[in-house]
Amino acid sequence: MPDLVLELINLTKTYQVSAGAFRGKRDLRAVNGITLTLEKGEVLGLVGESGCGKTTVAKLVLSLETPTSGHIRLQGRPLTDCDSKEIARQVQPVFQDPYASLNPRKSVGSIISLPLRALKVGNKASWNKKVSEIMEVVGLAPHLRHNYPNQLSGGQRQRVAVARALIMRPQLVLCDEPTSALDVSVQAQILNLLMRLRRELGLTYLFISHNLAVVEHLATRVAVMYLGRIVEEAPTRELFLNPRHPYTQALLGSVLTPEPGLGLPDTRLGIAYPNPIDPPSGCTFHPRCPKADEKCKEHAPVPRRKGGRLVECHFVEEL
Ligand code: SF4
Repeated sequence: MPDLVLELINLTKTYQVSAGAFRGKRDLRAVNGITLTLEKGEVLGLVGESGCGKTTVAKLVLSLETPTSGHIRLQGRPLTDCDSKEIARQVQPVFQDPYASLNPRKSVGSIISLPLRALKVGNKASWNKKVSEIMEVVGLAPHLRHNYPNQLSGGQRQRVAVARALIMRPQLVLCDEPTSALDVSVQAQILNLLMRLRRELGLTYLFISHNLAVVEHLATRVAVMYLGRIVEEAPTRELFLNPRHPYTQALLGSVLTPEPGLGLPDTRLGIAYPNPIDPPSGCTFHPRCPKADEKCKEHAPVPRRKGGRLVECHFVEEL
C-alpha cells in the first residue's frame, strides 16, 4: 500500500461573487471536483494559468478555506478531524514572497521558532537548540539569528521561510511559487536547497508554480489545472516528453520565462483565458482548443486514467 501523505477526493470550492452592477451574485467554481494523491517523498507540481484554482487548492490543504464538497485526508485522516495545531504540525507553507511573509519586527531566531512557540512544543532551551540546528540545515550562518529581515538578502529571507516551515518537521511542505519573487541566480540556490532537503529529510512537496522549467527540474509528477479541473496528470518525464492534452501541449510549446509576476508564458492559444464566473459549455477548453469539434462544445469529457497518466479529453486515444 502506498504511504499517502495527502489525498484530495472530488474536491470542490465554490465562491459567490458579484457578476457586475445589477446582475446579482453568481457561482465561481475555483476548484471543480479534483482528485489528487501525494505519496510520501513525492514532489507534485501543480501548474496552470492565473485563476485556474491552484492557489485555492493550497488554501484548502492549509485549511484556510473550507471545501464546498469533497474530502481532504492528511496521513489518512480527514482534515475535518484534525485541529489547527495538528494541521500546522503536518503541513507547513513556503510562500512566494519572503519579503511579505516574514514579520519585519522579529529577529530571524524569533521568526524561525514561531511554530514551536505557537504550538507550545518544548521549552526555551529546546527552541534555541532547534533553531540553531535548522539554520545550519538550510545554510544560514549562526550570527544571522539576531538579524532582522531587512538586514538579509532575498535568498537569505527565503531560507528563513524554509527553516520556519521545517522546524516542526512537517510531513508535507506546500510551496506556492517559492522562487518567483527572487532573482534568477538566487532561484537556483533555493531550488537546490529544496531538493537537498527533500533527499535528506524525506520531505513531500506540493509545489505550485507557473514556471514549467522549475517544475520539470523539481517535480516527480505534474498535474495541469485548467478552470478548476485537472486536465492532465503524469510522471514529470512522461508529461514533458509526450504531453497528451491539447492544453498541456500548448503550455509546453510556449516560450518559457523565469520572470516573476508574468504568470504562465504566452500559450499562443489566441483567445484569452475564460471568465471563471461564466465558463464555456462542454469541455471548458473548447474555445481555445485547436482540436475541438461539435461534441466538445456540448459535452464535458470525463477524466480517463491509464497507467500513471490521467487525461481529460474526448479524444485521448487519438492524442
Ligand atoms: Fe480539446 Fe475537445 Fe479535448 Fe476539450 S475535449 S481538450 S475541446 S479536443
